[in-house]
Amino acid sequence: MKFIGTRGTDREKSFSEVILNPSAPNGGLYVPKKFPRLDLKWLQRFYTPEQEPNYHKIAKGVLKKFKVDLPEEAIQRAIYTYLKNFDVEEVVPLHKVNNLFVAELWHGPTRAFKDIALQPFGVLLSHLAQSRGENYLIMAATSGDTGPATLKSFENLPNTKVVCLYPSEGTSEVQRLQMVTTDAPNERVLGILGDFDDAQTALKSLLKEEEFRKSLDEVGLKLSAANSVNFGRIIFQTVYHYWSYLTLWERFEIEGGEKIDVVIPSGNFGNALGAFYAKQMGLPIDRIIITSNRNSVLYEFVKFGKYDLRERKLIKTTSPAMDILKSSNVERLLFHKFGEARTIELMKNLEEEGYFQLTPEELEMIQADFDADFCTDGEGAEIIRKYAEKYHYLVDPHTATALKGAEKLRGDNKMVVYSTAEWTKFAPTVYYALTGEPVERVIAQEEEVEVIPDKDAIAYIETHLGVTPPPQILELFQKPETNSKIIPKSAIREEILKFVKGEE
Ligand SMILES: *Cc1c(COP(=O)(O)O)cnc(C)c1O
Repeated sequence: MKFIGTRGTDREKSFSEVILNPSAPNGGLYVPKKFPRLDLKWLQRFYTPEQEPNYHKIAKGVLKKFKVDLPEEAIQRAIYTYLKNFDVEEVVPLHKVNNLFVAELWHGPTRAFKDIALQPFGVLLSHLAQSRGENYLIMAATSGDTGPATLKSFENLPNTKVVCLYPSEGTSEVQRLQMVTTDAPNERVLGILGDFDDAQTALKSLLKEEEFRKSLDEVGLKLSAANSVNFGRIIFQTVYHYWSYLTLWERFEIEGGEKIDVVIPSGNFGNALGAFYAKQMGLPIDRIIITSNRNSVLYEFVKFGKYDLRERKLIKTTSPAMDILKSSNVERLLFHKFGEARTIELMKNLEEEGYFQLTPEELEMIQADFDADFCTDGEGAEIIRKYAEKYHYLVDPHTATALKGAEKLRGDNKMVVYSTAEWTKFAPTVYYALTGEPVERVIAQEEEVEVIPDKDAIAYIETHLGVTPPPQILELFQKPETNSKIIPKSAIREEILKFVKGEE
């Protein structure tokens, strides 16, 4: 498979090249030049109703069809992370709840959906680095879930070093502990005095800076990024859409060929893009329903064809992984729908004027595949309480946005709702939702508001609902905080260089 840039390319790139160097020319992203056909007929080879279907086989099948330029053995090892590091054999279990099918994407080591892509991704990148005799510094800026998943994926992997930047007061306590208790010698975690945008901006400017690359070069390091626009992550986010479909088919919930709807809590649009690709390649998906929180840019984009940041400021919500205004992967959708010239035009408008507006015909093309809803913190809390009380099913605040959307937009098709995090990562929000106290206090920044500590919220929920948190979450509260340096923005570069030179 060959890749081209959304804003023009000098030459076509291979899969390994776009993994190692994820930024395309002129600020664009890499996309597959042509998609393989992965339709019902292809999926049928995995159809074995008398046996449990096998997630790994589908994953391998997808990578094979994409003809990725990596040896079989490396792919095998990447996919083996699902067997080794996920706590259920199915990898992504599906539960029938309120006549919806909830697919849990968070059974990996850090309890959020990012593990699905980052677990195998780390193995592939490390393999490429070793086979080329190169060493890579992988940088990640995180608002909470990408950081822990990147650190977990790359810990002790040969030929890699990781630096993870996070806003020192902008993550949940569990997310913070997942990062600062990292003790792998190839990883450094830096808390930034600032918000997520500060961390992300610092990262982006370092990625572009020639001087910084030179300094890394002196210690034999090349630079890469594990952010969600890396196509190496997107490819693994097409797999579970096939998996969900096959599971419903094998359980006789649908007939082969019957169309389903999928509902996806969305931020950077990587998960939803995976569904769009699966549909493009022939999977019988009808509507891809994306749900937002109050940062509802994606909702407006799908409903009205406008992407407008002019009147918007980022709002902190109880679903922080979706607190995003510039949703990077939308650019890939624009490219597939409208082509290079129009993508350049629209993105230029967004970057220079802060908005773009699709024509009515273009909007119709988007709505042929997508629908959308958004959810306030209060509505999300109601959903969390309702599903716990009525269905004995506990969800996190991101998943709650999707359940709300599914209930609102339910039609005749069977619906798969993607659950993107375990409740243990956002226990205070879940606690307040269950006790009926205002969830907004979790994000209220006033000093006098005291928020229940994550540990106590987890203990309360465990006792009152009879659910068991996984060991890796409980262990966090005992582990020493060995990687807990907090620095001002101005010191980021110097701290990274100290780390890679082994000076500290
Ligand atoms: C990253 C994340 C999302 C958003 O996924 P995108 O691919 O960025 O749209 C939703 N929920 C959780 C819990 C996440 O970690």
